[in-house]
Amino acid sequence: MDMGFSTATTPEQIPQDAEWPAFSVPPVRFLITGGAGFVGSHLADELLGRGHRVHALDDLSSGAIENIRHLKDHQGFEYTIDSCSDGRVVAELVDEVDAIFHLAAAVGVRLIVESPLKAIETNVHGTEVVLAHAAKKKRPVFIASTSEVYGKSQAVPFRESGDLVMGPTHLGRWSYACSKAIDEFLALAYHTDRALPVIIGRLFNTVGPRQLGRYGMVVPTFARQAVLNSPITVFGDGRQQRCFCHVQDVVRAIADLMELGDLYGEVFNIGSDEEVTIRQLAECVRELAGSRSEIVTIPYDEAYGGGFEDMHRRVPDTTKIEQAIGWRPTRDLDETLSDVLASTRRAIAGERERRGGLSDRRQMLRTVIVERRVGPGDRRRIVAAPSEVSAALGV
Ligand code: UDP
Repeated sequence: MDMGFSTATTPEQIPQDAEWPAFSVPPVRFLITGGAGFVGSHLADELLGRGHRVHALDDLSSGAIENIRHLKDHQGFEYTIDSCSDGRVVAELVDEVDAIFHLAAAVGVRLIVESPLKAIETNVHGTEVVLAHAAKKKRPVFIASTSEVYGKSQAVPFRESGDLVMGPTHLGRWSYACSKAIDEFLALAYHTDRALPVIIGRLFNTVGPRQLGRYGMVVPTFARQAVLNSPITVFGDGRQQRCFCHVQDVVRAIADLMELGDLYGEVFNIGSDEEVTIRQLAECVRELAGSRSEIVTIPYDEAYGGGFEDMHRRVPDTTKIEQAIGWRPTRDLDETLSDVLASTRRAIAGERERRGGLSDRRQMLRTVIVERRVGPGDRRRIVAAPSEVSAALGV
């Protein structure tokens, strides 16, 4: 059987109950929504490296042109700056590709807690638009979901078939988990009701170069703090545990899931099972950075606003993806953190160059002042400021 996707075959010619093709024979034309984001831009690198063609769609809400600048001259790469919630744009792009990776989403606990409405709308409406157009044109779709959907489940390690345990609706954090769970329901409903080939990947704490701490993610935050010798901010008691997976391992899994075919209608965990407490993470980052940072603890209420619930442990069971495509992460935590630190140093050096000698101390003060001007609605930035102020002032 020819498992390659012939670009001469129009998807309309593929009958509804056909065995869907795999995409292992390049060049396949892929659309990546969120293609200028952290994971999306690494996925673009991976697919182009495999000889495929990539069209990135991104509204730059949390993505950045910087992430795809190196691809602009690549023959197989194109991009459109627009929203995946815009049906006309999505219809046009879906028409031109063979398959879709839907990664565009509001991500990061900080972003969700700050702007829940925008987050819910982006996550639910954007996905609905992409799925509707993919179904119309019969284009297979990979949907990026998240380990957040397991919520407060204590059935560690989490299996794809396990229960999702959410908190109450008045706590903003859970809106993210619920919005991504709705994405999964939608995708699976399109699969069963409209025969749309979909694969869902639940990503667990993906980290690596290009990820920004701006949206609250812990590894880029700690890396920057360590490189600048400013306090490393551990929230809560620091005993909560996470498993961090290198983004290059994650995008390899995503690309393999789609290339190998025959996995439609399935949900897969994608992540590392190497657990670390957040306190250990802070110590490890400080040591690898050779930093003089002190490690400070900040109560959750101060970090995220009142009533925040954190997950104590979050570990993926990766048996399913290992059995399906033989995937396992190849990089351990030390290697991953070293990679993040190297890219953080490069980013900070670039920033210093751009601001023409303005010291880190003055830059930090400027950041604090700008963030304070954001207004009373932006509570966490203001609360986060004192530690940065003291770091900047050296007191
Ligand atoms: N965290 C922290 N300091 C920070 C940012 C995050 O201690 O500056 C903690 C956060 O409370 C959580 C863990 O690190 O317990 C992972 O946070 P992240 O937002 O990266 O991912 P998630 O909570 O989605 O796993």
